[in-house]
Amino acid sequence: MDLSKQRPVDLAVIGAGLSGAALVAGLRAGGYQGTILVLEAGRGPGGRTATRRRREDPCWRLDHGAPTLTMTGEPTGPLAKLLESLQIQGVLVPDREPVVGLDPDGGVTALPDDPQLVGHRWRGQPTMATVAEALLSAGGAGTQAHYGTRIQRLRRRPEAWLLDDTWQARSLVLTGTLLAHPRSLAMLGWTEVPLRAAVPVGADPQLDQALATIADLDASVRWNLMLELPGSDASLPRQIWLTASARERFGVERLVLQRQGDGRLGLVVHGLDDGQAITPESQPTLIAAQETRLRAQLPELLAPWPELERLLPQARSLGVMRWGAARPTGRRLPQSLQWCPQSQVGFCGDWIAGSGYGLAEGALQSALDLSDQLLSC
Ligand SMILES: Cc1cc2nc3c(=O)[nH]c(=O)nc-3n(C[C@H](O)[C@H](O)[C@H](O)COP(=O)(O)OP(=O)(O)OC[C@H]3O[C@@H](n4cnc5c(N)ncnc54)[C@H](O)[C@@H]3O)c2cc1C
Repeated sequence: MDLSKQRPVDLAVIGAGLSGAALVAGLRAGGYQGTILVLEAGRGPGGRTATRRRREDPCWRLDHGAPTLTMTGEPTGPLAKLLESLQIQGVLVPDREPVVGLDPDGGVTALPDDPQLVGHRWRGQPTMATVAEALLSAGGAGTQAHYGTRIQRLRRRPEAWLLDDTWQARSLVLTGTLLAHPRSLAMLGWTEVPLRAAVPVGADPQLDQALATIADLDASVRWNLMLELPGSDASLPRQIWLTASARERFGVERLVLQRQGDGRLGLVVHGLDDGQAITPESQPTLIAAQETRLRAQLPELLAPWPELERLLPQARSLGVMRWGAARPTGRRLPQSLQWCPQSQVGFCGDWIAGSGYGLAEGALQSALDLSDQLLSC
């Protein structure tokens, strides 16, 4: 391979979700002068806080993943500063929209116990993706981002990481777990875990420990059905959360409504997973089955809002989004393994141990913690 053809950068960040974007902002705020390359598989920034748009319908915006950023406590230190700067820019606002609970008989009730409902809620303005966009723009001229680029092949050479034989980076940060977790083999049909294949066992004991921990991480799956409904003047909740027994009955976590600029309504039904194996071959069938299942539940789920239920026959499906790792569960990567200096590889994301684990808060906090470690290298 001709290394001179590869484009060199100081730091490559895989993923332009909240953590990747906050890492860029945190590094620049701390005075990092190196060049940064952000590579993202999706069509734009945001990751699980991305916003779905439609080419043929330029007004349409639908937050099809997280509809809100949950902060479990009062943010302090660098996180408070980061949030404050986003608020000053007008891209982050308190989320005070109504949230209600729903019981198994389809009646409105108290909110269930859930970490996503504890503490303060914030949302991106005008959309959730705006937050990651704003954080990335703090990267300035020395930062480039490429979308629609799923990295699969990593190689470690002395002093450099080679990414898909196209880019060469002195240091590497993974924000998702795909390149390090065996689940990528089943879900994407890959033949090896890219990070494990790049650094032989024993070459970097800290990385070995990190990879062993990551291999044990688990995550929940969500099947989010997206619908477009005609406009309605009715006063409606933003989120409808099912209680534990209602979730069991309907296989749905919550429903999220998003009013569009022209009055139309976006509805996202957050469907729970039934544990069937997801592979590139099984996915289309699973998506079709989930769409049928989730649509069939809607008349009962929306019964307390007759004005919405009446709109259902006109609901237009915009498909089902499969979140393969919606929220991490179980084991977490300790902060002591976030940065492996010998291999110059680091990790951030909501799957790192610490406050806000599994939430937007954890993604942002882990990025700020890692940026501290990188700045002190
Ligand atoms: C349906 C849903 C509802 C949620 N609700 C809430 C909520 O109410 N409150 C809350 O606080 N949090 C919520 N969350 C969690 C929140 O969205 C996440 O904690 C947060 O967005 C995680 O950010 P991240 O940067 O760690 O990961 P991600 O957003 O997943 O970013 C990782 C990025 O890396 C990219 N990537 C991965 N591998 C590769 C590769 N090989 N090449 C290129 N790119 C790659 C991915 O495409 C992705 O964009 C929800 C999540 C989901 C899915």
